[in-house]
Amino acid sequence: MILPGRTIGILGGGQLGRMTAIAARNLGYGVHVLDPDPACPARGVADLTITAPFDDELAAAWLARGVDVVTLEIEKLGRPAMRAAAERAPVRPGWQVLEIIQDRGHQRQWLADHGLPQGPWRSCDDAETTAAACAALGHDNFVKSRFGGYDGKGQARVRSAEDASRAFAAVGPNVVEQALPLVAELSVMVARRPSGETVVFPPALNHHVDQILEWSAIPAPLPAAVLDAAEEIARSIAGAIGLEGLLAIELFLLPDGVLLVNELAPRPHNSFHATERATATSQFEQHVRAVCDLPLGNTALVQPCAIANLLGDLWVGRDGKPATPDFGAALAIPGVRLHLYGKADARPGRKMGHLSATGATPEEATARVLRAQSVLVPR
Ligand code: ADP
Ligand code: MG
Repeated sequence: MILPGRTIGILGGGQLGRMTAIAARNLGYGVHVLDPDPACPARGVADLTITAPFDDELAAAWLARGVDVVTLEIEKLGRPAMRAAAERAPVRPGWQVLEIIQDRGHQRQWLADHGLPQGPWRSCDDAETTAAACAALGHDNFVKSRFGGYDGKGQARVRSAEDASRAFAAVGPNVVEQALPLVAELSVMVARRPSGETVVFPPALNHHVDQILEWSAIPAPLPAAVLDAAEEIARSIAGAIGLEGLLAIELFLLPDGVLLVNELAPRPHNSFHATERATATSQFEQHVRAVCDLPLGNTALVQPCAIANLLGDLWVGRDGKPATPDFGAALAIPGVRLHLYGKADARPGRKMGHLSATGATPEEATARVLRAQSVLVPR
């Protein structure tokens, strides 16, 4: 066990790193962060921030030398930097997890090799195989970059042969996935510590707009059989991949009640921000506990909670000029809390923060948080 009082290193100082750092500080840990952006969100809550690119091996080694364990909040990390860190401190989760996850093609193949449920897919390296895969999988597909996509970036929807060649030109090496008739999207978060103890959070129900998470509620108001199946998938992935830390699994629910794996993320996840209020332990505290090999926290539901993301588009007044949203109006709604990430530059589509709201049911919490979101900008 790496006991409170020691120091944790985080590769990545975005909002997930910031909120993990806050949880670590609550537990009494020191926090060092490495991020390429000198104004990264975690800066204000870390004891030390190293400003360097993620592929800088010397910087990764420097981070690891000063801490007792290294963890991460992004999966876009290279093997040399991961190795440089791992020579000096345990890195959790380790390279074996990132190697599978950071390439969408490897991820799909790994899921297939382990018998996990997923929709039809093909891994493609050139325009010809992309076009052939799109033709083979039907007339409506997603062409997703194998590397580095997020919030729907690095993806194209393909409904014709012409779309397919355009998609390869835009996306490059990719995985073609059949567009599925989604009844709901949910996610499940599993934590596993090096000693093997594994716990799962109640699944979240997620709503996307333009492929970006708009709101999310815990517990997902779905049939118990679906939630049990999600937990089962999470446990089997965590064990098979040898997880040390957190793993979020995005899932699709189809009309016949079948659950399919969409994608994996080996870190805290936007759809589990509600755990700061919904469950006895937040995902961020659980992240710290798991990578420090502490006893994992209780994930039992305390109260339903929903979150709504605040994108940079909201930082605009009625006159179209930059403006601060009317946080006072949102916070006047009972049960609503504001979580801002400390980002100065409010670009469209950028995640600036989120609102959370509790309720007697996940539906009530969702309605409340969406009302709070809607009053931020007078329309
Ligand atoms: P990202 O890495 O950008 O989150 P995802 O693969 O999760 O990429 O896709 C983003 C969103 O696009 C999903 O949450 C879902 O709403 C939609 N989507 C992705 N793949 C499919 C699919 N095969 N069928 C239907 N919708 C999809
Ligand atoms: Mg996703």
